[in-house]
Amino acid sequence: MINFKDMPYERPDLDALKQEMQDLTQALRNASNYAEAREVFLKKETSGKHLSTLMNLAMIRHSIDTRDAFYDAENDFWNQAGPELDEYAQAWTEAMLESPFRAEFAAEFGDILFLNAEIDLKSFSPVIIEEMKEENDLATRYNKLLASAQIPFEGGVYTLSQMTSFKTDPDDARRLAAWKAEGQWYKDHQAELDEIYDRMTHLRDAMGRKMGYDGFTQLGYYRMQRNCYTKEDVEQFRAAVRTYLVPIADKVYRQQAKRLGLSYPMNFADNALQFRSGNPRPQGSAEDTLKAGEHFYDALSPETGAFFHLMRDYGLMDVLSTEGKEGGGYCTGLEDYGVPFIFANFNGTAGDVEVVTHEAGHAFAMYTNADRIPTSTIWPGMEACEVHSMSMEFFAEPWAEEFFGPDARKFRYSHLAGALTFIPYGTLVDHFQHVVYEKPEMTPRQRHDTWKELLGVYMPWVRLDDIPFYGDGEGWQRQGHIYGSPFYYIDYCLAQTVSLQFWALIQKDRADAWAHYMAYTRQGGSVTFTELLKNAGLKSPFDPDCLREVCTAADRFLDAYDMTGIE
Ligand SMILES: [Zn+2]
Repeated sequence: MINFKDMPYERPDLDALKQEMQDLTQALRNASNYAEAREVFLKKETSGKHLSTLMNLAMIRHSIDTRDAFYDAENDFWNQAGPELDEYAQAWTEAMLESPFRAEFAAEFGDILFLNAEIDLKSFSPVIIEEMKEENDLATRYNKLLASAQIPFEGGVYTLSQMTSFKTDPDDARRLAAWKAEGQWYKDHQAELDEIYDRMTHLRDAMGRKMGYDGFTQLGYYRMQRNCYTKEDVEQFRAAVRTYLVPIADKVYRQQAKRLGLSYPMNFADNALQFRSGNPRPQGSAEDTLKAGEHFYDALSPETGAFFHLMRDYGLMDVLSTEGKEGGGYCTGLEDYGVPFIFANFNGTAGDVEVVTHEAGHAFAMYTNADRIPTSTIWPGMEACEVHSMSMEFFAEPWAEEFFGPDARKFRYSHLAGALTFIPYGTLVDHFQHVVYEKPEMTPRQRHDTWKELLGVYMPWVRLDDIPFYGDGEGWQRQGHIYGSPFYYIDYCLAQTVSLQFWALIQKDRADAWAHYMAYTRQGGSVTFTELLKNAGLKSPFDPDCLREVCTAADRFLDAYDMTGIE
């Protein structure tokens, strides 16, 4: 094994790559028996692994320091190269789909290979390459804009990520000032944020039409590789959220207002403070949080222990918040080495613990499935991936004392409450995007109005007021997924629903819950999301009973929660 910082990177020769992909495609077409076709297929696997490793190395190092000129140029290179290579990847996919040995391939490597290949074909055509490049550039512009934020606050200057902890400060005036300072920054850049999204919306709509769809939505679903549910299923899920979840989430905020001595409905700044004594915070340094993670994974299972030590020993986690670093967090894979990588921004809030539990949940799934062939089945779909991470957070709850010290009981309450209140927000993000792409002609102002209106449906507990940007009901522009990954967000909601199922299982029998978790995770991406769930003995979030049952259990749990001594 090699340390992350020593992993070699060199920009590949794009023309040579294209030639190689063309040669492999031709060889696959020329194969006269399965053994020959299989050999070509495995060669393509190796070359694809290497390509993805290089691309991810460039992407990771760029996001660690967006000011680094070398990786900035490499990031630009991949933004351009990606769509160009897609064309060659598509030729390969077509050859696979037309292969006379398709049945043999499916028997050995799984049907999902072809199911997803068919969807891939529907999500790309060379006629939209130029639009895709521009879309990538716009996404980079958005990320750079947010990463460049320098927010004046209390005499200092802070990045968006560094503002997070002020935005949950227990002092009402200070917290409100932080929200206002951050909101003002967005407001000052709103013209650019509007322009980027407006351009993206029109581009995406045009891509959808060029590919023969009725706008972007269908293309968006294919791009998210939705292979086991439709727009109608998602619509039904959103309806169940409104019916079962919104009332419970509303109750959480009513009780919060009472606890804080404030009147319901509260504004964004007050909704952000869960307890008068402050939100649960990790008790020690970043190193202490990582150490607590080590203890948790060591105790959870031999596999998780070995995994977490590997991540720490080989520099596969970059978690401190430093200047020039891109915001947010993610986990990706370095397939040549069979290891995951975790990127995050520690900021002294409970979010730091989530990096160790949530992102590492993703990483553990990749680590568990790193040897899978084809590599496209290492990870399942995005919604299925979020089950790995969100459920891991619940498995970590017994370690809350080590992560949070005296705040452990507050944490367990707010973790569950937060899971419940997140789903309506995430569903709102999804609903909003459906409207946006149904009506691409809307002006930026009309988009803001749409968000504001839906906010009243999904988050009735929010009082709009004089906080710039947020108080105007325009806060969607801080949600990067809306810009960079359309229709991604519902995945978190579907997964959160499944993770609440895990939460309920853990309450009953922890060992049994872990057995279900491993049964789910060991499958990697070998089948679709709904099949993964079924094989692991779990309910689908599209079954309305699923949401109803977890809501009832969680509501009962929160009602009975012993709040003695918690203020
Ligand atoms: Zn995640």
